Amino acid sequence: MSERIREIILCKYGEIILKGANRKYFEDMLCRELRRKAERYGHFTVSRSQSTIYIEPDDDRADLDGMYEAASKVFGIIAVTRAAECEKNMEAIEQMAVRYLPRYMKGIRTFKCDARRSDKRFPLTSMEIVSEVGGAILEAMPHLRVDVHQPDMEVRIEIREKAYIHAGQRKGAGGMPVGSNGRGLLLLSGGIDSPVAGYMLAKRGMRVEAVHFESFPYTSELAREKVFRLAQILTEYTGEIYVHVVSLTKIQEELMRHCEEDFFTLLLRRYMMAIASRVGQQVHAQALITGESLGQVASQTSEAIAVTNARSTLPVFRPCIGMDKEEIIQISRRIGTYDVSIEPYEDCCTVFTPRHPRTRPKLEQVAAEEARLDFDALVQEALDGAYTVRVGSEGYETLERPEPTMQNNEPKQDDCRG
Ligand code: ATP
Ligand code: MG
Repeated sequence: MSERIREIILCKYGEIILKGANRKYFEDMLCRELRRKAERYGHFTVSRSQSTIYIEPDDDRADLDGMYEAASKVFGIIAVTRAAECEKNMEAIEQMAVRYLPRYMKGIRTFKCDARRSDKRFPLTSMEIVSEVGGAILEAMPHLRVDVHQPDMEVRIEIREKAYIHAGQRKGAGGMPVGSNGRGLLLLSGGIDSPVAGYMLAKRGMRVEAVHFESFPYTSELAREKVFRLAQILTEYTGEIYVHVVSLTKIQEELMRHCEEDFFTLLLRRYMMAIASRVGQQVHAQALITGESLGQVASQTSEAIAVTNARSTLPVFRPCIGMDKEEIIQISRRIGTYDVSIEPYEDCCTVFTPRHPRTRPKLEQVAAEEARLDFDALVQEALDGAYTVRVGSEGYETLERPEPTMQNNEPKQDDCRG
């Protein structure tokens, strides 16, 4: 019986972001994130050496396939490779290459071999290693051909403390390690755009926290639960997410009672911005993040955005602003949120939608309409009723929830969407 093959994962990170004093900081951050991910897949040791992070299983029960997939989703990592480890001599390397590689070479017709020697004391040059290992592969799998220009697969031999035989490479998530660029508060609806917006800024290194506005009982328990499931999918990239849930029911009812219908959505969105800014300050976020896209709906014309933006006290990052819906959908499919996003539940923005929303509002007009209500008091009341849900990869739990107050609300259905 031949010995078990010891397979490990190697992760490469983008060199450009790792210059100077930041380097160790980023590397530590990446290792921490990988260790956190690894907890889910068994016992692994994560270490780094020579611009590579090594993820090594501690025992046979570790789920290497799961970890490989998970590592490819960690921001800051540009490529992940699985490799077999062996002794640092040519006989062992050749034997391992022909034992290990066939499982990854099904359907492959051409390959290219290359070698890297970090250990310069190794007696053979890179060229010599390539020619010996390439020869051994061709002998074991005579149907293969070498193609140095456009190979179906690249086989790399790396000589470090041990020898490693790489079976191809997979693109990593790219970007910067989560947490390396501050904290953003995502306005997370149940739609397609906001999860994509959160993903994009997490990719640039922001730690993401979320606020979700609901309008219970006009919006349902199922709509709320859908948002937590979306956040749960995002945690694959972002790590755990705290979702602060704020009810807009009272505000919406007051708007209906006292303000002109054409302004409902704009006014509501101004409340959202103000409340989100307050939550953002409480959680030390440097910015709000929304899924707004220019001209997508009446409240996203440049004039409408100017009017709603005026109520934010934090910078607002809108990564989808210049994207077409189709482009946003493409990303949402790729990151896995699309199927949940299109489940048909109501959003607080879609209850009480004005029939003729203003698309070119003037700030003074909106402010005058808004002055019919006690803005600050309503914001405070909404914040007082907020509660927090911690969403992790395994599920979610409610952390803080104030005593429910009695509300006299008859559920109504109004489903015309902007
Ligand atoms: P999405 O697909 O992200 O829901 P949308 O096309 O439905 O976007 P709007 O409903 O106008 O567009 O919302 C624009 C942005 O406002 C959203 O991307 C999100 O950031 C924020 N937003 C809307 N509704 C909510 C909500 N209920 N809770 C939190 N944020 C919201
Ligand atoms: Mg929405």
